[in-house]
Amino acid sequence: MNEEWFREELYPHWRQSFQITRELYRANDGLQDIVLFETPGFGRVLTLDGVIQVTTGDEFVYHEMLAHVPIYAHGAVKSACVVGGGDGGMLREILKHASVEQVVLVEIDAAVVEFCRQHMPTVSAGAFDDPRTEIVIADGLKYMAETTRRFDLIVIDSTDPIGPGGVLFTEQFYKDCARCLTAEGIVVNQNGVPFLQGEEVTDTYLRRRPHYADVGFYMAAVPTYVGGLMALGWASASSRPRGETVETIAARFQAAPVTTRYYTPEIHKAAFALPQYVQALIPRD
Ligand code: SAM
Repeated sequence: MNEEWFREELYPHWRQSFQITRELYRANDGLQDIVLFETPGFGRVLTLDGVIQVTTGDEFVYHEMLAHVPIYAHGAVKSACVVGGGDGGMLREILKHASVEQVVLVEIDAAVVEFCRQHMPTVSAGAFDDPRTEIVIADGLKYMAETTRRFDLIVIDSTDPIGPGGVLFTEQFYKDCARCLTAEGIVVNQNGVPFLQGEEVTDTYLRRRPHYADVGFYMAAVPTYVGGLMALGWASASSRPRGETVETIAARFQAAPVTTRYYTPEIHKAAFALPQYVQALIPRD
């Protein structure tokens, strides 16, 4: 049988492969290699520089957990900023909340937005055209250093700390994000898979600690981000949002429900319970 496979080589000693039904798009826009293909098991898969960014099959886990956990924990998010997120999935989840008045999407690569709008329309589900959406094509580091805006929520939906996404893991960027938050604002980010990328947890903690009162992590199981649970970073000037009880979260979810496939208030609370091997990556103060 003549099968075609895509092989992701993110780690030196471990690879994962996806059977390709057909390749839909391949380009290099000068910034990144963009490839889209269809698979039997995960639907459409977008890769940038050979690394999986999003699959239509399991993106809901990642996007729901990075959007709804901070929004229900905060309780009154009106203004949000997504850094990266060119596929539009994060916008889609944030915009499900009627309280949200504006979301700024700061994406470095215009081609990703255009391409996902065209070839992965179910991911953004119209979010790019929502009147509350503002799209800024810029480097997130530069944007956050220069903007005078303040946000209740910043979601860093970035590539891994290699290539253009590297700057979004620096202390300078985290410091600028802290300045751009409202009083009880929250920053969340994708922080890699600790079993394989443990140093990302340690580095993020050390780089954020000087700039936020509350720094932590929570976990989600995203099938295509192999290696076990994924770490999602959390930082806020206030410990109040992370400390909200499950009863409070459930009451907010009931009062302003959104349709989800992964998120529940119970999962929200449980996600902050870290396995010992992850706790061991967080330096003690
Ligand atoms: N869920 C994904 C993951 O963890 O694999 C992330 C997906 S999202 C498509 C990542 C986006 O971050 C890409 O569209 C990429 O162009 C964007 N990006 C990378 N570096 C950036 C930067 N410095 N500023 C803004 N956007 C950036």
